Amino acid sequence: MHDTPPAVPDFTQWPSFPFEGDLRVKQLEDPVPVEPPRKGEGHRECTACNAPDDAYIWVGERWRVRAMDRPTGLPMVLILESRSHLDLGDLPNLLAAELGVMTVRLERAIRSLDGVARVHVNRWGDGSAHLHMWFLARPYGRLQLRGTFLSLWDSILPPISESQWRENLAMVAAWLAEFGGRPLAEPPRIQWQAPSSLSAQASREQETAEQQEEPVSVIESDEETPVPADDSDDVADAEVTADATVTADTEVTADADSADAEDSNGDQEGAAPQHDDATGEATASKAQTTSGR
Ligand SMILES: [Zn+2]
Repeated sequence: MHDTPPAVPDFTQWPSFPFEGDLRVKQLEDPVPVEPPRKGEGHRECTACNAPDDAYIWVGERWRVRAMDRPTGLPMVLILESRSHLDLGDLPNLLAAELGVMTVRLERAIRSLDGVARVHVNRWGDGSAHLHMWFLARPYGRLQLRGTFLSLWDSILPPISESQWRENLAMVAAWLAEFGGRPLAEPPRIQWQAPSSLSAQASREQETAEQQEEPVSVIESDEETPVPADDSDDVADAEVTADATVTADTEVTADADSADAEDSNGDQEGAAPQHDDATGEATASKAQTTSGR
């Protein structure tokens, strides 16, 4: 291998590159002959399969959407997950088609938030075997955040306010629920203006404690994931069996239901005819806000 690492590439000079100063390219380690199992592979428990619906901001029959466990630097970071334990290339046609629909729907919901210019959609999957797509919102006007370094900036920027974060979550959840499924993110008023905010605070802390092992940003979740020695979440081998059952069931269901699903999709879209109006309003109000700044 290289004794002297190569010079740093040109992108370190780009305005969007978050770091400056003297940089060196790391020495590349030798490739391993066999890669370690990801979460949800081999004996490793699957975080997604074990997560209850109330850990998500919106749930449907075959898809769930979750947030980080606290605000991060970007206005919105969400993860779209299939309910069944499958990776991207393993999706049956029904789920593959629905992934497209869900991706478009979620992108539009996030882009309609105040102060969001663009939504970056990513799938890495190096940390977990269970399909999860990342949706990262780029703040309006922050040209320096354009492009592939957005996921780094999410961990660098100061977190947005929790009230704004919760409001954004509730709006996205409500948007998705117009097409079906169940919104689980509550409107912020309930938690922020009620005098009984102490109990809300307590339940949030409880929630945070329960989700302690969840990733707090895209970087921590997918980019590195060294297998830690204290990997206390490897609880039971039994989960592997459970995963396999879910997968088998889903494939059968997916095949059998695929015609129905098309119908029901059509119905769902038809059931929310007001959605285009909502989009128009959201866009208009964003434009007003923006021009006011
Ligand atoms: Zn899973």
